[in-house]
Amino acid sequence: MSYPKLIVDYEILKNNVKALVNLCNSKGIQVAGVTKVFCGHPEIAKAYVDGGVSFLADSRIENLERLKNLNVPKIMLRLPMISEAEKVVEFADISLNSEIETIKALSEKALGKNLVHKIVLMVDLGDLREGYYKEEDLFEAVEEVLKLEGVQLIGLGTNLTCYGGVIPSMDHIDRLNRLKREIEERFSIELEILSGGNSSSIHLLADHDLEGINNLRLGESLVLGTESAYGEQVEGTRNDAFRIQAQIIEVKEKPSVPTGEIGRDAFGKVPTFVDRGVRKRILCAIGKQDIDLETLYPVDKGVIILGGSSDHLILDGTDSEIDYKVGDIIEFTMHYVSLLRAMTSEYIKKEVIY
Ligand SMILES: *Cc1c(COP(=O)(O)O)cnc(C)c1O
Repeated sequence: MSYPKLIVDYEILKNNVKALVNLCNSKGIQVAGVTKVFCGHPEIAKAYVDGGVSFLADSRIENLERLKNLNVPKIMLRLPMISEAEKVVEFADISLNSEIETIKALSEKALGKNLVHKIVLMVDLGDLREGYYKEEDLFEAVEEVLKLEGVQLIGLGTNLTCYGGVIPSMDHIDRLNRLKREIEERFSIELEILSGGNSSSIHLLADHDLEGINNLRLGESLVLGTESAYGEQVEGTRNDAFRIQAQIIEVKEKPSVPTGEIGRDAFGKVPTFVDRGVRKRILCAIGKQDIDLETLYPVDKGVIILGGSSDHLILDGTDSEIDYKVGDIIEFTMHYVSLLRAMTSEYIKKEVIY
């Protein structure tokens, strides 16, 4: 056994996916399973496919390349770099776009490979990350895209919450529908995809049908079961499909306040301390390089996270019913940022359990 280890429970993950796919399909919405939080790990993505997603989607073309043997259409989520246009048309069937220069590069590379690459144009409805903000610019882009032979315009999309924190509302959905109708009428075309958002749109499904929206790109809600507008657990899902195991390297009784003058810690901040007296302190061999302390949760509720440095995690085990010893393993669940970091850390072994 080697540690730290990230355990991925295939059945829990697949069941989360099924719950979200059923919810979305019942409203005429197909799910694009977003794999970026687990770096496009193919064994993990298999649970998405087995759970019924219609597409696999990722921000990084390297990840889509890793997924090439899974037989589901792939979507490139982040606006492609012109420098990666050739790889994008090779490993993605569809890409989200907002710059005509990039789309021209994609068209050219697609033609070179005898392909037609599918384009979804992104609309910025106010979150201020990617997408056309002015409607006239969007219409102009449509006109340009329709002239290109290597690409096919298949729809519109929007992304909310990720940057600006804007919570999706029915106003956003209505605006996207209106833009789609206007483009269809002006250019006499049909747009097959209206991609309404990410895990922050799930809360709308409780009371609405999201008329017109037929695609959602879901990451967080599949892996953790949480909708991301309010952080609620979606019915029928669990938050423990991914768990971290770390090994204890020291257990000692120590005071809770350091001795001496306090300067900056390893991350440049001046730390503060709560004096709880002498406590049982536990060191684990994992650190901020591998996880984010704010989004890491001990499964044993008697354990408190005190802090850490790049490669140490410091816990208070005084109130636990378990008498932890050096060499023992402590398990944690995580939220998005910790999971992202843990998957990216090459020091953490990943193991899918079935
Ligand atoms: C990351 C991302 C998603 C998925 O977001 P979640 O909140 O994890 O569901 C969807 N669309 C785009 C464009 C993204 O970058």
